[in-house]
Amino acid sequence: MARQTWAFPDGFLWGTATASYQVEGDNANSDWWRWESEPGRIEGGDRSGKACDWWGGRWAEDFDRAAAAGQNAHRLSVEWSRIEPEPGRWDEAALGTYRELLLGLRNRGLTPLVTLHHFTHPNWLAERGGWLNPDVVGLFERYVHRTVSALGDLADVWITINEPNVLAYSSYAAGVFPPGRRSLRQAFRAMETLTNAHAAAYHAIRALRPSARIGLAHHVRGMWPARGWNPLDRLVTWARSTTFNELFPRAAQDGTLRLPGRRLSIPKAAGTQDFFGLNYYTTELDRFDPGARQELFARSHYPPGAALSPTGFLASVPRGLALALRWARGFKMPILITENGTEDPRDDFRREYLLDHLHCIWSEIERGTPVQGYLHWTLVDNFEWAEGWKLRFGLWGLDPNTQQRTRRPSADLYEEICRQNGLSAELMQRYAPKVLERVLQGTSEGSSRGVQ
Ligand code: BGC
Repeated sequence: MARQTWAFPDGFLWGTATASYQVEGDNANSDWWRWESEPGRIEGGDRSGKACDWWGGRWAEDFDRAAAAGQNAHRLSVEWSRIEPEPGRWDEAALGTYRELLLGLRNRGLTPLVTLHHFTHPNWLAERGGWLNPDVVGLFERYVHRTVSALGDLADVWITINEPNVLAYSSYAAGVFPPGRRSLRQAFRAMETLTNAHAAAYHAIRALRPSARIGLAHHVRGMWPARGWNPLDRLVTWARSTTFNELFPRAAQDGTLRLPGRRLSIPKAAGTQDFFGLNYYTTELDRFDPGARQELFARSHYPPGAALSPTGFLASVPRGLALALRWARGFKMPILITENGTEDPRDDFRREYLLDHLHCIWSEIERGTPVQGYLHWTLVDNFEWAEGWKLRFGLWGLDPNTQQRTRRPSADLYEEICRQNGLSAELMQRYAPKVLERVLQGTSEGSSRGVQ
């Protein structure tokens, strides 16, 4: 008889992930606040405003929602620009508020995972040149030291930097994050500084909290050659993937930063991950294009036939996650899925996306990949960077004008998954029968091209 249940390991962490700037509101000392005010930066001229009003106290009701929905963990971030609004001046009240948030999680039975840097910077730091200025390494280390001294007793899992690859690329090469540069050379310089900063932060946290688990949240984007037979497609895919996906995890493993055409030895970065934090959303196909220098000579598109999210922002390609997990397994450490999710205001795409990806994670665990937790992006709709309020990633919808939350069916589905610590055929049948069909046919990962 076909399998009816897919159980996850005991003690598996089930939760959601958020980032301070996207949920807190009124982050007026941050470079993003200034960036948002410049015309043309954010889709539709949107502003983060009060965001989800966590700084106004609505974190409590959202943590209530998460806990009541059977979750047992939450990943959040703290805002450097609040903790250190001016160089060397620490805002004790802000640190106090973060203590309240972390206690709020713990008191509700939610294990906290804390990110120290998630895309945003104090204005004063941006004015000093951000990640192009090597001094940021010592400044980040000092901020991390102060923050972990104040909060370290309340959390055991620390993420130094969220998606350093996306940060460097979006800020310095694609120009869609502040400071809006378009220079690959600057992006590579930023990558070097980010690696040094992560290493310094790792050692600072380790000295303060010997038993803490410390890592990065790596954004891994599946990249496959558009035409498997074409050596140039294969070459550019390899170049993009090694630069974008592999550079930071490998540097944190062996202390060598493999920039295109240049290897840098950063010995203090070696061995600076206790777990592999993996953010996975989608997979693209890459096609050689000599005119696309900034994109390392490739044009990319989604696999034809893969289901697209409502605005076309991402494609559902669970096989890309399976491959990412097999690759991450090679780092020989526990893996946490620190983000995975999709935009979908109507919530008719998310249920399939969630079940397909979770089934795929289950399969990889069965094969021996040590995945210890899954943090869905995200709890409540939030401010989506350059896309503003256009993209709706929440299990709960949000009207930012009224702060009204609306529970989406996927929140019910996720609640049942968290409570069962797994999936079942009956659950799939009720929420997304097509997923059950795929699972029973053995095609739930999609074909090798991700087409479903
Ligand atoms: C980022 C989040 C973002 C999400 C969805 C991730 O790369 O870490 O901050 O909201 O993608 O776009």
